[in-house]
Amino acid sequence: MWDPVTKDHAIIRIAGTFLLIAVLAAGPAGIASVTPPPSVAAAPASAPAVALAGGFAAAKLPSSLTTTAALHLRTGSGTSFRILLTIPKGKAVSVLAKAANGWYRVRYAGKTGWASGKYLGKGKPGGSSTPHLPRAHQNSGPNRSSRVVLTFDDCPRTLTAFTAAINYASRHDIALVLAPTGDCLTSFKHRYGVDLAARARAKGHWVINHSVSHPDLRTLSCAQAAAQLRGTGVRTNYGRPPYGAIDEGVRCAYARVGMNIWTWTRDTLDWSTKSKSTTIARASAAKPGDTVLMHMGWQGFAPDSIRQIKKGLDRRGVELCRAYHGANGTGPVYRTPRLLPASLPC
Ligand SMILES: [Zn+2]
Repeated sequence: MWDPVTKDHAIIRIAGTFLLIAVLAAGPAGIASVTPPPSVAAAPASAPAVALAGGFAAAKLPSSLTTTAALHLRTGSGTSFRILLTIPKGKAVSVLAKAANGWYRVRYAGKTGWASGKYLGKGKPGGSSTPHLPRAHQNSGPNRSSRVVLTFDDCPRTLTAFTAAINYASRHDIALVLAPTGDCLTSFKHRYGVDLAARARAKGHWVINHSVSHPDLRTLSCAQAAAQLRGTGVRTNYGRPPYGAIDEGVRCAYARVGMNIWTWTRDTLDWSTKSKSTTIARASAAKPGDTVLMHMGWQGFAPDSIRQIKKGLDRRGVELCRAYHGANGTGPVYRTPRLLPASLPC
């Protein structure tokens, strides 16, 4: 598949910057054409092919364009320039100028840089069904409430342990957020014919992606990391990168598959302490709105632990996210949708 983010264009490295400087030097009279010459390299400096907003060709330059794929914003008009950030698909960018090679100088999320025109269209923004969160929201994901979300990653020890935990939480009107790996789901499907994700959703819990085989996604290319997110794992719009390991390449992968990153705000380190009481104490110390990290393979993922955590939070007047009661929040516990709403109905 053609890959807009990694191969946006094999173009002359400094063409855009060079021509922009040439235009500024030549003044408005120098802006003679918006039609790119056949070869950027051959374009004489006296006939720059750059349109500047507000200049001669402003009418031909749209004030904004929409990304048709996840697209890198770079410091210059070519793929050799440094990446400032990855603009998700379906986002509107303000257009400032166009370089002869088809790259646009644009502004997005407070940053100005260059992006390949190949993936900028006139469509309406919001084409992607996934709302992309600002980085500031990635730790608490879609929880906008003051309620605490208990999240459990990886894989349960047994089907019995899994079923006991999700049933207990559901009966006590607590929504868990589960992040099983694809390998975990496959293993339980093979061994018991059970889809853990479906079983959890049926009990009003939320299920998010945690990759197929739990690699450190930073060690992979954007395409390889995206394959980890698209594989046998959970198909949804939120995912937790293994180890919480994130860099620009990892962000690129999440943007490419249309998934928001959701890490955590409070880590119990349950896998390290291996202590039930310490895990409960740390989870019970959660502040309003916290996303608490635990693991399905450790002591927090059990009816008695969940009971004690709830009791500890209750004592401090802190509430847990409620099991899903449908779109209008009333009635019995419902099966949760595969895609999480932008604001979790806690
Ligand atoms: Zn994990």
